[in-house]
Amino acid sequence: MILLANSEAWPGFDKTVELLKLNACGIDAMIAGISEVEREIKVRSVGYGGWPNMLGKMELDAGVMDGTTREVGSVGAVPDTLPVAALAHEVMKRLPHVMLTGEGARRFATEIGFPVDEVLCEDSKRVWWERLERELSTDERKAFPDIALAPLSRTITDPERVRDTTVFLAQDFAKGIHAVTSTSGWAWKYPGRLGDSPIPGAGFYADSRYGAAACTHTGEMTMRCGTARSIVLALRLGYSLREAVDMAMEDLAQLKTGFLAGVVIHAIDAWGNHDVASFQCPQEIKYWFWEPKMANPEKRIARKYDLQHTT
Ligand code: ASP
Repeated sequence: MILLANSEAWPGFDKTVELLKLNACGIDAMIAGISEVEREIKVRSVGYGGWPNMLGKMELDAGVMDGTTREVGSVGAVPDTLPVAALAHEVMKRLPHVMLTGEGARRFATEIGFPVDEVLCEDSKRVWWERLERELSTDERKAFPDIALAPLSRTITDPERVRDTTVFLAQDFAKGIHAVTSTSGWAWKYPGRLGDSPIPGAGFYADSRYGAAACTHTGEMTMRCGTARSIVLALRLGYSLREAVDMAMEDLAQLKTGFLAGVVIHAIDAWGNHDVASFQCPQEIKYWFWEPKMANPEKRIARKYDLQHTT
């Protein structure tokens, strides 16, 4: 057994560990943990503590992958719903689809008994408007929200500071390797923008035979590189976990156009190894790790991917 999650996972990591110790299915254990993260106002990038889009509306993204069946459920830009990782799991279990977005996802949530939640907290609302107001002319303030948002999307925020995700990867007692993600995405994002967290292959991927990977930070890059899938494919082709992660990093480093910023890759393999590496992140990145021989989960420091490796 093994559990790996990023630093935002702190409110729910212990809960997931406890459930894994009781031989719960890894997906159920991770969703129980992520639900705690989604409810925690102090986590300023996921669920209730997260950030709204440019219109001040919360749009949450989440994904779930069962690495044994390779079934996936995901939801994107979901309004008025807090347990979005749990909702993604229900998409996987109940529908012949992989992904629901926006109003369709909310309709499905209502059909299956999820409450309509208040997702925008007062502090996020205050910060959202104060920052937006500074960018708007007097006429734009009067006309808001009937103004062009696209010109603002490059200037409104520093995405290095105002966004993150929670990602959990586990190998459970049955050797099932699974992945779960949840995020409010990029603060002041254009309405309807999806990041990588609900996109299988980009923000997360799991295959119980080989391993799993999940990404945080700039979804605009990992969607272009199919990062999570590429790592698991490299494991299948016989590369070590470290080599697989470095190859994905090299690929990201080749991107020269479009929006470029930091990426963090979290990965485990089917043989008990794990790796967390950051790419172009100015700050030190930490993560949570647990395996049964440890008395308690540990917060550890991610390695920085060395750009000199790139060709
Ligand atoms: N990857 C997420 C996204 O692009 C955000 C993050 O993890 O910082 O929405």
